Amino acid sequence: MTETTEHTRRDEAIALKVTDLKKHYADADTNVFDGISFEVPKGKVLVIVGPSGSGKSTLLRTIAGLEPIQGGTIALDGRVIETGRPGNEKSGRVKRSEELRTKFGMVFQSYDLFPNKDVLGNITMAPLLVQKRKKDEVEREALELLERVHLADRAHAKPHELSGGQRQRVAICRALILHPEILLLDEITAALDPEMVHEVLEVVVELADAGQTMLIVTHEMSFARAIADRVILLADGRIEERSSDAEEFFTHPKTERAREFLHSFD
Ligand code: ADP
Ligand code: MG
Repeated sequence: MTETTEHTRRDEAIALKVTDLKKHYADADTNVFDGISFEVPKGKVLVIVGPSGSGKSTLLRTIAGLEPIQGGTIALDGRVIETGRPGNEKSGRVKRSEELRTKFGMVFQSYDLFPNKDVLGNITMAPLLVQKRKKDEVEREALELLERVHLADRAHAKPHELSGGQRQRVAICRALILHPEILLLDEITAALDPEMVHEVLEVVVELADAGQTMLIVTHEMSFARAIADRVILLADGRIEERSSDAEEFFTHPKTERAREFLHSFD
């Protein structure tokens, strides 16, 4: 392979391209990002690492359309879907078509399942109510997804009857049933007991192997190293280091900032 650290091979289709992204919260003194750019090829996994407060969640939320941007562009499949405007700082979901919204699936640190619905009900709710898909077809797909995350036998359990790791796997199914082009995972194992981390990460590895394009924020460095096609280190509102060779990033970081960051996990 002749691929160099920062450039995408010409035959690689780009799923997501972020250009000169600027983000400012209305009540803050400084920009979270002052112009960051990167791209994610189709079927690849970009892992975003960085210290707490560096803007990892904000980055995922702007891409998912949960927060407006104040500069730069976000393009999906070569089509610009959002252009930042200065002054456009009011927090909250940006206007996107229903079709565009479902292109992004997001899973957060804390599983926000509906407590009074069972597993199947949680997974099928959006496709039934929002997409108006047929019930038997949606339930069949939900059961297939549950099979994929090794939870086929818990379809009728309520969230409180599940472990944290099981709930996160349900949350993954709930995102996947909308067939997102890009799955955004924000520290999805951070709130889990250590013994449950593995069962969730294993599912994410299976998704990567199946060709799901993903942006993953994680503090699990061995997982990051195993799953990343590309890595970005975010710090102080900038991309301090980037690599399309994850192994290289974790074993031979080029910048002092990256060395420092990785050492904090030793
Ligand atoms: P990370 O996920 O890397 O810990 P965040 O994206 O949560 O970082 O936060 C980046 C910066 O933006 C922090 O300084 C944080 O305090 C600030 N921030 C995050 N969310 C908001 C918000 N809703 N309003 C104002 N400031 C915020
Ligand atoms: Mg965060």
